[in-house]
Order: sequence, then structure tokens, then C-alpha cells
Amino acid sequence: MKYISTRGGAEPQEFCDILLGGLAPDGGLYLPESYPQVADKLEKWRGLSYAELAFEILSLYITDIPPADLKAICDKTYTAQTYRWCRPGCDAAAIVPLTTLEPGFHLLELSNGPTLAFKDMAMQLLGHLFEYVLEKRGESINILGATSGDTGSAAEYAMRGKHRVKVFMLSPEGKMSAFQRAQMYSLQDPNIFNIAVRGMFDDAQDIVKAVSNDAEFKAKYRIGAVNSINWARVMAQVVYYFKGYFAATTSNDQQVAFCVPSGNFGNICAGHIARVMGLPIARLVLATNENDVLDEFFRSGVYRPRATAETHVTSSPSMDISKASNFERFIFDLVGRDASIVRELWQQVDAGGAFDLRGTRYFADLPGYGFVSGSSSHADRLATIRDVWSRHQLMIDTHTADGVKVAREHREAGVPMIVLETARAVKFSETIQEALGRDPARPKELEGIERLAQRVEVVDASVDQVKAIITRNC
Ligand SMILES: *Cc1c(COP(=O)(O)O)cnc(C)c1O
Repeated sequence: MKYISTRGGAEPQEFCDILLGGLAPDGGLYLPESYPQVADKLEKWRGLSYAELAFEILSLYITDIPPADLKAICDKTYTAQTYRWCRPGCDAAAIVPLTTLEPGFHLLELSNGPTLAFKDMAMQLLGHLFEYVLEKRGESINILGATSGDTGSAAEYAMRGKHRVKVFMLSPEGKMSAFQRAQMYSLQDPNIFNIAVRGMFDDAQDIVKAVSNDAEFKAKYRIGAVNSINWARVMAQVVYYFKGYFAATTSNDQQVAFCVPSGNFGNICAGHIARVMGLPIARLVLATNENDVLDEFFRSGVYRPRATAETHVTSSPSMDISKASNFERFIFDLVGRDASIVRELWQQVDAGGAFDLRGTRYFADLPGYGFVSGSSSHADRLATIRDVWSRHQLMIDTHTADGVKVAREHREAGVPMIVLETARAVKFSETIQEALGRDPARPKELEGIERLAQRVEVVDASVDQVKAIITRNC
């Protein structure tokens, strides 16, 4: 399988060649040159374990790693031990257990991994793939990133203790919850470097961009990234759409709907790909919070990224985005994979503008892709968390609450609805307190992590201070 750029200006590459990079050299995103068709494989796949299913699907997209090695990577990534934080009494061996709230309405638990958010599902695989490919090539990498919470901790837990990988993760000092800080800063692994920046998330992000734009420094210190546009992350997420489908149905002629709390369009992009591969998905329901750029697009055909200053700070913070970095992948497919059209549209986006597909044939094609959408507010989240708690004695987090709220607006008779649970309530206990007047229960092993010794270096919002830390430790 070769990978091509959504903007058409990059040489086709093998999987291992795009694994460690970010954007394609022409500024586009990598996608496989075609989507394998698997409708006739569903029968055979229905009974597989998560690791077996991951191997079957990943083998279609990764043709430059020997199958036995890829199998070993899948086996050590998707273990019940790694994804053990599931609710009492659940089946950890399923990796992504399906919880039925009422007949035909389910939660797919994707947040039972080490950092209690769905990003572990893909990031743990990335950790093993990075280690494998770097070892083969005799190379090393220094991952530099900025986080406001979920992504940074998922990356650190995936890369901790891995050979040939160091992680330098910037976070805004004092802006994350005590639990999130403890999760990251208590890691004592010598290859993990937590850097708290005196400033906001955007300051941290700007430092990462400045360092990455310094081509000489970047090459000398082999700076890499694990951001949400990484193809391997999207690919890894395709697997649980299949697993969720099998869990919610009894035969392969049934259809389902998935509802996905969305930010950068990574998670639901994987759903789109699963559907194009032939998984019987009737509907992909996209849920946003007050940051409703994507809801607006699927309702109107207008994609209008917001200025950073226009981004709402909400109680489902991992969905607080002003533009959706993976959206270009979907538009590439929507316009019939015509890179010249994507280039044209993103010329407008990259210049701070918008694009409008109304009146084009792409807009007429849009319904064929199965998307519907809706948005949710802080008041909706509180009401939904209360309702699910009182009716099902189940605590859901704020992002999942956005999903449940929007999913309920799009139920169709005879089509099971599967809401993706993207994080656990314990990560967002302030809002849970506000909704329920009580704190979420914590897995035993995570009790008191706020009291563990923390390893973090505090710096000014200064590119030079961050570069100095990298130089000193590489
Ligand atoms: C990252 C994240 C999202 C958004 O996922 P995208 O792939 O960016 O659409 C939703 N919920 C939680 C908890 C997250 O961490």
C-alpha cells in the first residue's frame, strides 16, 4: 500500500516512511492510495479478538512490515492489562467493551487505557510502531509537542521507557486539572520530559511551531511529532468501529449508527474510512460542543474555521478547536480525490478564509457519506450526565455527554446507535461535581496520584529556554 498527499504534490510513500513524519512536503495530509474493500471478510472477522482484528485491518494498510512482526506488535499493544481500567464487572479482554444503556442504544468504551481517554487506543500502537521502525533503521527521534491535557499524556504513556524515543511535552503551567497534571508529571521515566510553560496553551503551541520551523535545529535534534494528523493514529481507530459493530449486531446484514464526540475530526474520519471499506454504517453522527465548526459544515455546506480567539473554552475541553485538522482527509474523498480542488479550497482556509460547497455537485454528494450532526452546550452536558446517572447509574464524562445528547436526536427505528465513550468521568471531576454533587469513583491504583513526586521543569514562554532543555538532554 502506498500513501499519497491530499494536495497531490508528494511522491507516493510506504507506510514506514510516513509513520514518523507529520504533514506531507506539499502541506497536505497522507492517505492510502485506495481503501481496501472488506464486506466479504466480515463473516470471518466477527469472532476475532481485538488484537487479531487489528492485525487483519492493519495488514491491509501496512505492507512494508513483515506480517509476523506486525502480528507481534498488535498482540503486545492490545492486551487486557493495558486497557484494564474498565468499569467494575466489565469484560477487559474485549479491550473496547460495549455497554448497553437501553435496547438499541450503546456506549463503546474506548477509554479504559492508561490515561483514561480514547487517544490511548491509537497512541499505544504508535509507541510500539515507532520503537520497531527506529530499531530497524538504527535511528532515534525526539518528539516535541504541546498539550492541554489528553494528547500529551497519551503520548507520554505510549512512549515511556521506549528505546530511541524521547518526549518533550509542553503544557501551560497551572491550566490542567490536578489529576491531569499528576498523570503526566508523576512519570519518572528518563525519556520523558515535562515542560510547564508560564503562559497559555497557545504560547506552548507557538513554541513548538517555532522549533519545528527551525530546519537546522529540527534536523540536528531529529525533532518529530505525534499530532492528530498522523495517519497511523487514524488507521488504528478504524479497528474499533468494526469491533463495536460486531458487538452491537448479530449478523452482517444489519446496519448501525455511530455517534462521535468530535474535535479535530480524527476519530470520526476513521469511521468514515470503516464505512467506505464496507462496514454497514447507516449513519455517522458528528457531535460538537459550543465549538461547532463541523456541525455548521454538515448542516450548511460551509466550512468556516474560527480564529483562535473565537474558540470557546468549555467543559469538554478536548473538543475546543477552531479548525479541524483532519477534515481535509474527508474533503479529499468527497471531491472524488481530486487534489487540485483540495489545494484550491485550502488556499482559502490557510489564508484565514472559509469555503462554501453549496451549489456544487460535492454538496449534492454529501448525503451519500452518511453524516448528520448536532451540537451541545454546557447546560446540555450537565443535564445529560444527570440523566444517564439517574437512569442507568453510570457516570459519563463531559465529551461522551456531548455524544449522548446529539445521538438521542438522531435515533432511527431498527438501527442500533453506538456512542463512542472518549474519556472517563474521573478526568473531568469538576463538571461531574457540578452535575451530580459528587466526585467520580477512581480505579484503586489511581487513588492519591496527586501526591506522587512530580518531575517537571517550569520555563518562560521562550523558544530558547525550550531549545536549551532539548539540547541539554539529547
Ligand atoms: C481528542 C478528544 C476528542 C476529539 O477527538 P478528535 O479525533 O479530535 O475528533 C473527543 N473527546 C476526548 C475526550 C478527546 O480526548
